[in-house]
Amino acid sequence: MIDLEYSYLSLPTTFYQKVKPSSFSKPELLLLNQSLLDELNIPKVNPQEFISFLLNQEATDAVGSFAQAYAGHQFGHFTRLGDGRAIVVGEYVSTGNLRYDLQLKGSGRTPYSRGGDGKATLKSVLREYLMSEAMHALKVQSSRSLAVVKTGEWVQREKPQEGAFLLRLMKSHIRVGTFEYARYFGSTEDQKALMDYTIQRLYPEIKQEENQALALLKKVMLVQIELVVEWMRIGFIHGVMNTDNTSISGETFDYGPCAFMNVYHPKTVFSSIDTQGRYAFGNQPSIIKWNLAKFAESLLPLLHPEPETALQLAQEAIDEFEDIWHKKYYKMMLLKVGIENASPENYSLVNELLAMMKELKLDYTNTFFALSRDQFEEGNPMLDSVEFKNWLENWKSLIHNSTGMAHAQKIMKENNPAFVPRNYLVEEALEKAIEGDFTKFEQLLKVLQNPYQYQENLNHFTLPPPEEFEISYATFCGT
Ligand code: AMP
Ligand code: MG
Repeated sequence: MIDLEYSYLSLPTTFYQKVKPSSFSKPELLLLNQSLLDELNIPKVNPQEFISFLLNQEATDAVGSFAQAYAGHQFGHFTRLGDGRAIVVGEYVSTGNLRYDLQLKGSGRTPYSRGGDGKATLKSVLREYLMSEAMHALKVQSSRSLAVVKTGEWVQREKPQEGAFLLRLMKSHIRVGTFEYARYFGSTEDQKALMDYTIQRLYPEIKQEENQALALLKKVMLVQIELVVEWMRIGFIHGVMNTDNTSISGETFDYGPCAFMNVYHPKTVFSSIDTQGRYAFGNQPSIIKWNLAKFAESLLPLLHPEPETALQLAQEAIDEFEDIWHKKYYKMMLLKVGIENASPENYSLVNELLAMMKELKLDYTNTFFALSRDQFEEGNPMLDSVEFKNWLENWKSLIHNSTGMAHAQKIMKENNPAFVPRNYLVEEALEKAIEGDFTKFEQLLKVLQNPYQYQENLNHFTLPPPEEFEISYATFCGT
């Protein structure tokens, strides 16, 4: 039905185990992402044939579905892991020679499942579908969701829930944790094989570099900084930035406990298990730096045969983080206020605005959106703030002396979404959907597919959550 390839199986067998998806008695295709199928040039599929194609994967030595081995630092602690509830069906090569993993998530146990059942609840799968497609529309690099299949069976969680699996797509599922696995559980040959494979697949331009491991480290640092800068732009909190959830391709993935911030505060956290706030909104830059340091450690033997030189090279690369981060972060934040000149003398404009937003407990998305249109609704505490009036004056004069307001507004509208998947809207849509009523889910998905295009009649999707909702809202890893 769809031609698949298996380049990953050219790696040493320590990196995967061949495994077939479970069989399900009554699988039913609930969602199919037709526009993504079109993008990928995949011809129209018949739902039942498509499901059979996904589930009936014959595994021979050379081809067939597999689960990937990896390790990772979870909340700072090193653990051996692997795809416990995910199976790569194969790789699809689209036009332009773009290669994607097609992965099932929730399709049953694998050799890495440990005590888990390898299954996923319908609610968690629908949540990932909605969030990942919203992220893509927000112009943030992300795994994509191709389909949701209800399995027809119940999975045991706190209470029994309907089961489902997701068909997800990524440029590759290789993560920092895959390199940690190679370093701590593989041989030097295994490490080298993983590096060569990764470079060939994701960053072939690196092949010309003299020190390929160093070039890979710097490249991953760059794409991950760019990614987290984008999260900061839209108020996204990943929620579980373990090294096994940090992709080498620079794509956002694993949408378990993620959430969008409403009121601006760097300490905002929603994940029920993140009691220390390790993965809070404002911690994301320092955590990605920490994860990149773990990546650097895992590359040490490849960086240089002399351990001391290797360490020095790794340290020098990681020391560049701060500078790159600041430049990229402030460039992005200044674009949010319509300023293209990202010179350091303008940084204070951003810092002052954020300080006021924190103090006045303002909604992150709506404040930037209001600035983009120079329209603050009546009753906004900004309007009574002398500090804000001064800031506004400064900001306006800076813009008038540079590109002019019309141009600034154009930039702001491209960088400040009107609509983000607010937690209460997502929950409401999911609750109805798992009862079988997809009206709200479809409506929300449609709005989120066009997040920069404000429409008056959709204004209710911009409203901040009811206060009592936000106080008690918590997200779960949601297996
Ligand atoms: P995550 O929090 O999604 O990044 O998952 C962390 C680890 O737990 C991964 O190795 C998963 O494969 C594993 N895992 C999570 N849920 C399940 C499940 N229901 N069954 C088996 N393994 C699971
Ligand atoms: Mg994960």
